[in-house]
Amino acid sequence: MLFSEMSLPATLQRALATRGYLESTPVQEAIVTGAHGARDLLVSSKTGSGKTIAFGLNVIPPMLNDAGLVATPPGAPRALIIAPTRELAQQVAREITWLGADAKLRVVTCVGGVDPRSEQRALFQGCHVVVGTPGRLVDHITRKALDTKNIHSVVLDEADEMLDMGFREELETILDAVPTERQILMFSATMPRETIALANRYTKDAVRVSAAQASAGHEDIETVVHVIAGQDRDRAVVNVLRQHEATSTLVFCGTRDGAAHLAATLIERGFSAVAFSGELSQPERQRALQSVRDGRTRVLVCTDVAARGLDLPAVGLVIHADPPADAAALQHRSGRTGRAGKKGTAVVLVPVHRLRQVERLFAVARLKTRPSPVPNAERIRELDAVRVLERLKGKIEALQPEDLTDTAALLALCTPEQLAALVLQGERSNLPDPESLDATERGNDPARAKKPTFAKKSADDLAGTAGDDRSVDGNADSVWFHVNIGRFQNADPKWLLPMICRRGAVEKRDIGRIVILDSETRFEIAPGRAEQFGKAASQLDEREPRVFIRRFDPSRAGSDEQPARRGPPPGPPPRQAPRYNRDATGPAGDAPPRRRPAGDGGEGVPKRKIRAR
Ligand code: ADP
Ligand code: MG
Repeated sequence: MLFSEMSLPATLQRALATRGYLESTPVQEAIVTGAHGARDLLVSSKTGSGKTIAFGLNVIPPMLNDAGLVATPPGAPRALIIAPTRELAQQVAREITWLGADAKLRVVTCVGGVDPRSEQRALFQGCHVVVGTPGRLVDHITRKALDTKNIHSVVLDEADEMLDMGFREELETILDAVPTERQILMFSATMPRETIALANRYTKDAVRVSAAQASAGHEDIETVVHVIAGQDRDRAVVNVLRQHEATSTLVFCGTRDGAAHLAATLIERGFSAVAFSGELSQPERQRALQSVRDGRTRVLVCTDVAARGLDLPAVGLVIHADPPADAAALQHRSGRTGRAGKKGTAVVLVPVHRLRQVERLFAVARLKTRPSPVPNAERIRELDAVRVLERLKGKIEALQPEDLTDTAALLALCTPEQLAALVLQGERSNLPDPESLDATERGNDPARAKKPTFAKKSADDLAGTAGDDRSVDGNADSVWFHVNIGRFQNADPKWLLPMICRRGAVEKRDIGRIVILDSETRFEIAPGRAEQFGKAASQLDEREPRVFIRRFDPSRAGSDEQPARRGPPPGPPPRQAPRYNRDATGPAGDAPPRRRPAGDGGEGVPKRKIRAR
């Protein structure tokens, strides 16, 4: 239904039309035409279906006069919108602000991580709508900065997530603080039992609105499942990124550590990636999101909580690097793409041992699983060959006569074949290398690997192991490290071994198995030496400023549910997570430039610095 056919205040109509929103989404239509008035609402509607404007269109009109302008000057707020994370609250506030701009609606945002005094000042100056996170809203209510006496609507956006995050008490405090004659609106893509229980306590004959079968999947999102060997997880992510070449991608990990680690790995591989999790400071989070919005960062590696509800318009691809915990998580993660009618792809990577669980979860979500193989390196190179030619064709067609003036000197220097080779080399040098997925292709079971031995080895022995034995496993007492040099950088135990010894101040006999992969080498360190090794080796060395050695947790490659990390990783990734952020988001950071990780030029163009091909 067109907005113009709805009975909406003229100022809101104008705001929607200016924005280019002519047709309402099903949930918006259900809310506006349902004429629910001031009744409580429990609304479920799929991700990206425009729930924010839907509640805006319910909450704002009662505050407006016949001319479509706010009926009262800014004062004690009339509506309260609660969202689980800062970013989501700010996103909602932006949306409500433009929607109400012509109506002269004043919106104040109250979120953690921001100076509360400036929020207090804004609240004292008065407003019509307050948007905030539960904790900060409670603070302002307790300090009497937020006057709740006029509140007639309370919106709980992503109500289920707020309960999951343990905000029950805060929500109850807020709901107890507002007048009893108020309307409560709960919005989410999923409405689990606990949310409905809270709703039952606080709402009166709430109307259930479910638009476009919230739980039946999402027709704009194509879901792909790849079954992998656990230890191939990072490499599978690389290949999936390379296969799709989406403008922006969200990659989901089960844990913060996992997200920081994967972001670091991707940066080393030459992707412009950034980790996005709750542990970043507020400015860092803002910068990370901004860098994705303006295209400098193409891969955001995040946790479930951090990304809940985020509306990043250009996300074409979502990768579940670790499988989602349940059907709701699947839906919310995948729902970051396919927004507002655009098409998107969600790729779920499933380690063999979790396939059954994921199949059950898909059954609950009413999605069909038909696992397909992850594209291997060869397949990616085939795709590259086609795409590189396509790109060059476009560039050739775009050439203007004046572009052809200075070419004679070069043509005199080389044959057309040589020239073509150079051009191809240039095109390919921007592409991170695809990875071999040998373990996955062989169907390796990570649980079957043998215990390490720390016998003295000759370089030749090690060379024999290299590249062959990929069954890096989660053996209880093996401590694995990794260095960002692999076969493509001509890794050879002959020089790698002395380097590892020098960087980590250990001897050759302290090094166990060595596994050389395409772009990295993993090696075992005797458990007794691991801690000291980690400390020493994570120091950067002037001689190899771009060689990073860091702890590698093979068990995590197989499962994201790994609270039992063996100590904090001593290497660069966690320490650098915010710095990656800085690197990808501009010069405002504080890290010495020497630490800029290989491959991130800071302008979002993937570059490989360590390359020997
Ligand atoms: P949800 O909360 O349901 O996940 P959002 O409210 O974040 O979805 O909306 C997703 C995106 O769709 C936003 O960028 C929003 O501005 C846009 N959008 C909302 N309603 C419409 C509409 N009627 N027409 C076009 N785009 C819309
Ligand atoms: Mg939303």
